[in-house]
Amino acid sequence: MQPQALVKILLAEDTETNIMVVGDYLESLGYALTIAMNGREALEKAMETQPDIILMDIQMPVMDGLEATRQLRADPHFADVPIIALTALAMNGDRERCLEAGATDYISKPVSLKKLKEMIERLLNGTKQKQTETMRFLSAQFLDGD
Ligand code: MN
Repeated sequence: MQPQALVKILLAEDTETNIMVVGDYLESLGYALTIAMNGREALEKAMETQPDIILMDIQMPVMDGLEATRQLRADPHFADVPIIALTALAMNGDRERCLEAGATDYISKPVSLKKLKEMIERLLNGTKQKQTETMRFLSAQFLDGD
């Protein structure tokens, strides 16, 4: 079993080709993958699977990635889950729109798999580090209060 076998990734993407390319790659790295094909499905699958990280396409039918990201961030369960926005739009201000909606970071399409892998690893390490810091803080509080 690979070390990241239990890491769950939710891929919200409506284009079959991207689902195959990105999805197959993530599975080959050992991540447990769930697919959603629009923003509303992304919300449902996020509740269902409690992913460790979310890849969110911006342009999707039914509900776009920006709205799905906003709704996830409004839910305390998903306040700290890393969300990587995937967008084909290259206009100025897109990065800002994604970050304003609550995305943690942004990657433009066509997605570089190497860049995506590095970003996922960096964000997952960041989450772990944050948890360790919280644990240290809590232990310190406990010792102080003793
Ligand atoms: Mn799309």
